[in-house]
Amino acid sequence: MNESPSNLAPTALPQFEIVLSAGMHNAIREFLFRDSSREYMGVILAGVSETDQKVRLLGRQFIQVPSEDYQHQSAGGLAVRREYSQRLLRQCAHEGLSQIDVHSHPFGPSPNLWFSGTDDAHEQRMAEYIYERLEGSLYASLVMNQGYSKARIWLPYPDGVKEHEISSLVLAESPFRRLDISSSDKSDQPRLTEGERDIFARQVLAFGEKGQLAISKVAVGVIGAGGQGSTIVEGLARLGVRNLTIIDPDVAELSNINRVAGMTIEDGKAGIAKVEIASRTVRAINPDANVLAVKASVFASASIEYLKVCDIIVVATDNHATRMFAQRIGAQYLIPVVSVGVNIEVGDDGSLADVSGEYAIALPGATGWCLTCARVYDAERAAIELADAAEQQRWIQRGYIDGADVKAPAVSHLNGVVANLALAEIHNLLAPFKKFVSYLAYDQLRGELMPYTIERNPTCAVCSDSGLLGLGDLEPIPDYERTMGKPLDVSTVPEGRSDGGEQTEDEAIEQVTTTDSTVAINAPEAAAALPVDDFAAEITEGGDAETRSQA
Ligand SMILES: [Zn+2]
Ligand SMILES: [Zn+2]
Repeated sequence: MNESPSNLAPTALPQFEIVLSAGMHNAIREFLFRDSSREYMGVILAGVSETDQKVRLLGRQFIQVPSEDYQHQSAGGLAVRREYSQRLLRQCAHEGLSQIDVHSHPFGPSPNLWFSGTDDAHEQRMAEYIYERLEGSLYASLVMNQGYSKARIWLPYPDGVKEHEISSLVLAESPFRRLDISSSDKSDQPRLTEGERDIFARQVLAFGEKGQLAISKVAVGVIGAGGQGSTIVEGLARLGVRNLTIIDPDVAELSNINRVAGMTIEDGKAGIAKVEIASRTVRAINPDANVLAVKASVFASASIEYLKVCDIIVVATDNHATRMFAQRIGAQYLIPVVSVGVNIEVGDDGSLADVSGEYAIALPGATGWCLTCARVYDAERAAIELADAAEQQRWIQRGYIDGADVKAPAVSHLNGVVANLALAEIHNLLAPFKKFVSYLAYDQLRGELMPYTIERNPTCAVCSDSGLLGLGDLEPIPDYERTMGKPLDVSTVPEGRSDGGEQTEDEAIEQVTTTDSTVAINAPEAAAALPVDDFAAEITEGGDAETRSQA
């Protein structure tokens, strides 16, 4: 029988993971182990990504508890001043975020790391307090020694709070790592199957079995199954990626045959879905693969649900809006985004003016940047692509954009070169074998490869920690599918909303709080109602109860 916590869906318990933004893991470890004579503590403010199968806590911001805010601090334990704890709780409530307490057990790298009895008592009281007062916030904790990490989440049940182990710590950076931090027997953990051992034997010779295992554990979402997308999907399957989600609304036409990997002329005649062709290719390469073919627009709500549980998103389409959208999901859900694009331009005299392409790998967090920072897409073009049909028509008449019936030139070798440059770097991201090159452009006419260095804009609205970074389900995703390219039909605009535009904050809150499977979040109200001053009395009941970690 499955017990369910009172604010999660009444089914089997999901799998719990903590995802840290790029650079956060190092920042935490540097702070916690600056000196091994005493314990240190910090707090991760986190968004939440929730589906029935998986709950991810998304590390948005790491806050170091400053030395003046410890009541005491030694090798055997520490206590944080209550005013400081209150301030953090207030911030969580105000922003609707969840809280992950992090502390060190500074002695050695023993694998037998776990929370102490004092940790148990403190965290239980903290969890009871949070679930009583802060609707929508989750409470978890992470303990680290010099070699290992362990984590747990506390959840509310009718008869009190209970802890559940967090099984994975995901580092959304270079190298990308999916660390198994469960204390359970590892014998049932995913490993290479007998079949995979055979089919990937030749690359294991050079890149090792550990790297191959890392590749087999990740889930990659590919947006677009055309010339580049299909080539990348095939390459990922040959690399050993076992979990693939492929999203594309289109069916194959005869004119796709010059570049779509795995496509036959029969597929073109029959108008087979591009995602079906790509998943057929994957299954033919690796029968053990889990491949999900989603014949839908990336803007569809189902596509978003599939993408937010991926580890890496590849966007291989021919427009700006999908790149903007993929980056939004990547930043919000802490998922690295690989953008792949090509360009062929024919001059007025019929000569080739440009035959080029590029990939860009955007890592979410302090040591990364985003496609917005790198200007990989044009926000104005994206907005036009997302506009309704009438507005698009006006832009076409002004000559600003081409009509939808204008086809861009394409050739398979260009797609192939650029897709494979990106594949090599995805391989390197998962199983590092060389320096990470996050942005590389290819000029076919000149025969040149050009790496670029991108700087993160510290105030970027998308990828900074004052932007969307790590907000997860807290920030509603605009429903572009409703308006994009469609004639504006006033009968579909809900009453009381005149523009068919983005949700208001109230509507968004109503939506998240009335959906059973979604953690109810009502940040502004929670902040207003928060009686944080009660916290001190409750949490410190029992004398030295705040003292933690007497390991
Ligand atoms: Zn950015
Ligand atoms: Zn401890």
